Amino acid sequence: MRPVKFKKQAKKIRQFFRKRFCRLCREKITQIDYKDIKRLEKFITDRGKIISRRSSGNCAWHQRMIARAIKRTRYLALLPYTK
Ligand SMILES: [Zn+2]
Repeated sequence: MRPVKFKKQAKKIRQFFRKRFCRLCREKITQIDYKDIKRLEKFITDRGKIISRRSSGNCAWHQRMIARAIKRTRYLALLPYTK
């Protein structure tokens, strides 16, 4: 049998990663500008990593778009690779 404590913890983790509706779909955004750093900053961690789809709740289409834009922005040194 599993201890009760473990069960509670598992529930908490699931709540943290709760899937939300894609933010960009709600705003009806079809293009992401790589110069729009303010928007892209919301999708990277404080260490400069791209937040996964699992935790950001983006759809595959928008996640791909964001990843591409962030990588382009990094190359232009507008965003850091790491901090
Ligand atoms: Zn979307």
